[in-house]
Amino acid sequence: MKKLFTVLLILSLSLSLCGCKGGCYESGSGELSIVATVFPAFDFAREVAGERASVCLLVPPGSESHSFEPTAQDILRIQNCDLLICNGGESEVWLEDMLESMDKDIPRVVMMDCVQTLEEEVKEGMQVQGHEHSEDEGHGHEPEYDEHVWTSPRNAALISQAISQRLCSIDPENAQYFSSRCEAYCGSLLSLDEDFRSLLQGAGQPTMIFADRFPVRYFVEEYGLDYYAAYPGCAEQTEPSAKTVAFLIDKVREERTPAVFYIEFSNQKMADVICEDTGCKKLLFHSCHNVTRQQLDEGVSYLGLMEGNFVTLRRAFG
Ligand SMILES: [Zn+2]
Repeated sequence: MKKLFTVLLILSLSLSLCGCKGGCYESGSGELSIVATVFPAFDFAREVAGERASVCLLVPPGSESHSFEPTAQDILRIQNCDLLICNGGESEVWLEDMLESMDKDIPRVVMMDCVQTLEEEVKEGMQVQGHEHSEDEGHGHEPEYDEHVWTSPRNAALISQAISQRLCSIDPENAQYFSSRCEAYCGSLLSLDEDFRSLLQGAGQPTMIFADRFPVRYFVEEYGLDYYAAYPGCAEQTEPSAKTVAFLIDKVREERTPAVFYIEFSNQKMADVICEDTGCKKLLFHSCHNVTRQQLDEGVSYLGLMEGNFVTLRRAFG
């Protein structure tokens, strides 16, 4: 009886260690092994590497990437990969610490290093939760950069090109394969960029109002749009304050905007309240930050989600 118990215990322990929970989502079966921290990195890598690599998405689908903690298996995976694609910035400090402790250099592409970064912005009307940044604490105030660089399709192209260059130098035999895939992919990204540009310019560069968090600053900057949002960046979602709701309702009326936006995984509470009060439409704008396991199984892609955003914006402003 005791023996059986021990066997069961070992079995359940090894099951919990097999990474069924912390294991990465894998795509492709090529020889090169690529590890990507977040969904956009994962998807750009797949697009460029095609069938010549296996790409693993480290942060589990549907989970909050800003509070990710790697498992022992994740650490091994990173140690043994041919290329690591990460985002950089505040939420990947865990990765910097881990890489520093390793005795070898892991080749990597940092998405934030591929583009012109913007400082985080707390805009009029935003509800900031928890600690306020205080400028007079004695120690220097380092600027924090907005991490969501991929939300501009142009940035997505720059990142894909950096991934392609890196892959070409790691695996020169397949250089032609990677560069031509990359070129085709960037062609699609840039033609979508043109579509966004002409739609939004034609609509008089409308102000976008997000009754939600705001991880899409690079998108609105790319097309010269003004915006208002309930919370900055990826701030934790909290109970909306009456003041924030009132501010956004005023802005909806002032701007005569036909729609307010919410982002994926939102509880949509604030958007509901605002729409009820103003009669405007509630629309999803996908930041491509995070997708569900089911979406991955169904073949979700950055390009597909962004094309969805185009249709949404045309519905709102076209
Ligand atoms: Zn974020």
